[in-house]
Amino acid sequence: MFVKKLSKVCLVGLRNVSGRNQAAVRLYSEAQGLGCPAPPTRPETSSAASLMDIGTRRIFNEDHDIFRRSARRFFQEEVIPYHAEWEKAGEVSREVWEKAGEQGLLAVLTPAEHGGVGADVLSAAIVWEEQMYSNCTGPGFSLHSDIIMPYISNYGSEQQIQRFVPDMAAGRCIGAIGMTEPGRHDLQGVKTYAKRDGSDWILNGNKVFISNGWMSDLVVVVAVTDREAKSAAHGISLFLVESGTKGFQKGRKLEKIGLKAQDTAELFFEDVRLPADALLGEPNKGFYYLMNELPQERLVIAGMAVASCEFMFEETRNYVMQRKAFGKTIADLQTVQHTLAELKTEICMGRVFFDNCIQLHAEKRLDAATASMAKYWTSDLQNKVATQCLQLHGGWGYMWEYPIAKAFVDSRIQPIYGGTNEIMKELIGRCIVRRK
Ligand SMILES: Cc1cc2nc3c(=O)[nH]c(=O)nc-3n(C[C@H](O)[C@H](O)[C@H](O)COP(=O)(O)OP(=O)(O)OC[C@H]3O[C@@H](n4cnc5c(N)ncnc54)[C@H](O)[C@@H]3O)c2cc1C
Repeated sequence: MFVKKLSKVCLVGLRNVSGRNQAAVRLYSEAQGLGCPAPPTRPETSSAASLMDIGTRRIFNEDHDIFRRSARRFFQEEVIPYHAEWEKAGEVSREVWEKAGEQGLLAVLTPAEHGGVGADVLSAAIVWEEQMYSNCTGPGFSLHSDIIMPYISNYGSEQQIQRFVPDMAAGRCIGAIGMTEPGRHDLQGVKTYAKRDGSDWILNGNKVFISNGWMSDLVVVVAVTDREAKSAAHGISLFLVESGTKGFQKGRKLEKIGLKAQDTAELFFEDVRLPADALLGEPNKGFYYLMNELPQERLVIAGMAVASCEFMFEETRNYVMQRKAFGKTIADLQTVQHTLAELKTEICMGRVFFDNCIQLHAEKRLDAATASMAKYWTSDLQNKVATQCLQLHGGWGYMWEYPIAKAFVDSRIQPIYGGTNEIMKELIGRCIVRRK
């Protein structure tokens, strides 16, 4: 469906990619005579001219390249020019959501019969990678499309799907998810409570740090529904709560050290009366649904982390090659080259692991512990890359006008949300020592 929306520019780009591939094949034919190993027709990022090149990585094909070109153009034309304004406002425009919907950049993974684009998870990854290559973290597209929409598609009733998915795919209905509470330390400690009242539910509680929270039209709210359950995990349900419902209030937009254009808010629920069809899936199955969906959330964070590393690396490579010191560029200094060599090696290792994880996920074979490994390792790497790339920018790296400064502060949240990296290690560790 999205292929129909492609412009001539994308098609010209595709021809260029094909041309480059033909050149690679020709080089290979020549190299064969010298006993060189066979290069793939699509180079991996380690041997590409830039870590952000289109037409690389064997997990993708030329249709993906066409889609990537259109996504790249969207972020360049519709996001980058407005982002500074949105950083001041603490939120993006509604218009950019609707434009993203028109371009087929939302609900990429959501089945077409539900009203989504119905493409593969690799196409969904292209959207979040291109967003990170644009260094613009304001629009919460991947949270909306790849973290929240799957709850509705996978557990929603026919009526809930029809009611919300087409509008969410069009960017007219913005989604958020409310798990975290001011006083809780894990999902099983949730205090927000929904009590039955006839066929309705009465919801009370509050949530904090909710991404897309201020702009949200629909929130998936995690609440306790059975306080007597044999364990907290057996008494949790998910509810679809619409903005404007009586008793549902949004707090202020929270002031953060990074993600300046992202609207993170507190949400308050006071005697909110919800009809029976606000319940998502079955009662008391919420914890099970969350456990099923969290690996994809962690994979999204990992994918964004690796793409951000690639962006920061290329930004820094360009900077050191033009910055003069002691009569030459700082790129000529051996210590700078060694730092870049180490960073590129680690980023390419992260890329290989992530590409393997997303391929496993496409085959529905990605387990929770492996997704946690990807989230923890790549988000730590992102912070290491951010620190070292900023250092290579010297004082200019500390200036907001330099993209590396923004990438540096935006990196800091990645080891925290989606479950902290300490919790990721708990999950990985438990699997390591689990008795058979
Ligand atoms: C910008 C931003 C956006 C967010 N978006 C959302 C959102 O959209 N929806 C949502 O529901 N939440 C969201 N969050 C919340 C985020 O997921 C939580 O902040 C995160 O999971 C950590 O929980 P906490 O803040 O309660 O920290 P705590 O759980 O209090 O942790 C504090 C410290 O203790 C450590 N710790 C805690 N328990 C253990 C343990 N068992 N073993 C070892 N160490 C431990 C942690 O790793 C951490 O270092 C967002 C947060 C931020 C800052």
